[in-house]
Amino acid sequence: MTYHKVILKPKKEDSLLRFHPWIFSGAIQSITGEPEEGDLVEVYGANNRFLAIGHYQIGSIAVRVLSFQPITIDLDFWKERIATAYHLRKILRLAENDNNNTYRLIHGEGDNLPGLIIDVYAHTAVMQAHSVGMHHARHIIAEALVAVLGPQLKNIYYKSEATLPYKANLGSEDGYLYGGDIEDVAMENGLKFYVDWLKGQKTGFFVDQRENRSLLEYYAKDRSVLNMFCYTGGFSFYAMRGGAQLVHSVDSSAKAISLTNKNVSLNFPEDPRHAAYAEDAFKYLEKMGHNYDLIILDPPAFAKHKNVLRNALQGYRKLNAIAFEKIKPGGILFTFSCSQVVSKENFRLAVFSAAAQSGRSVRILHQLTQPADHPVNIYHPEGEYLKGLVLYVE
Ligand code: SAH
Repeated sequence: MTYHKVILKPKKEDSLLRFHPWIFSGAIQSITGEPEEGDLVEVYGANNRFLAIGHYQIGSIAVRVLSFQPITIDLDFWKERIATAYHLRKILRLAENDNNNTYRLIHGEGDNLPGLIIDVYAHTAVMQAHSVGMHHARHIIAEALVAVLGPQLKNIYYKSEATLPYKANLGSEDGYLYGGDIEDVAMENGLKFYVDWLKGQKTGFFVDQRENRSLLEYYAKDRSVLNMFCYTGGFSFYAMRGGAQLVHSVDSSAKAISLTNKNVSLNFPEDPRHAAYAEDAFKYLEKMGHNYDLIILDPPAFAKHKNVLRNALQGYRKLNAIAFEKIKPGGILFTFSCSQVVSKENFRLAVFSAAAQSGRSVRILHQLTQPADHPVNIYHPEGEYLKGLVLYVE
């Protein structure tokens, strides 16, 4: 098979030689023919030196690299990459574990498959394409998934309407590529939950908070817990298992609150310790008392682009300031940012300003990040996005 060739400007190959998986449009000298968005292209440097093969894109990232070797991108390629990722999840003891069947199988660049996300919930894999190339490859990827996971896999749901580049105008519709069971109960660290991949946010559950939820469980004993931005209630049912005295879950979405109630009952039926409220975070925080001694703040990404960074940092500062003001002495605050454009340093600075405003003594107990099934490719530091601090407030 012959591919269109992307030829780089002189001296623009350095990042590729360091295995960074993106080629920016500004680095390109010429392209042979007219590749369409999503096509496989080969990338060459000076003296016709082969550098990479990847998916062509329209926009500032022009190519997302699939391999730095001149290989064929066929069914075997997809099987090999998926098998490698699955093997890692077994090493991490997230797959083939009686206590856990929820994990991220493919984390884009972190699994050397830029533009592809696959989360596994029990018998269902939810696949999300962030690039046209991955969208075009969805059927062969599904075939490879079935081959690697075997009969444990019953459904593959493709959910990319919201993540594909809007301008590509693909008219992609979400739906099953394999199987078609609607409802599934999945398990994380022995706790059960329903996943609504059809209507839920992202792929249906925030798999990336697993380890942080475990840490919360560890501190929950006898505490009064506020789980702000609870979504499907992950932190809430861990807090319950950890022996919390009471757990209040808050989210502005009524749908999220009903899922939280369903999930808490699934694990702790009729347990009077839990209550959930559909309310805006700031409203709730302003009017609540000083009764909580364990607060979780896990807001949605306040900044999706660099140009709104300042506002986002203000948002984190304001939110955390109320928590510092209201948390009981001896309280523990779990505070997060999942905005990729907000750096660890900037987030910490926003939380620092909030703490200073409250005038309380605050110590950092833990610095948190994303779990091992959301690995960061060392050549692609942009892959690190989740930041969290656990703070002890006197
Ligand atoms: N902590 C969750 C994930 C949080 S996602 C988990 O572990 O699964 C962010 C959540 O914030 C979403 O569920 C969204 O509905 C909610 N949200 C967004 N804006 C909000 C607001 N102003 N007040 C309260 N909740 C809000």
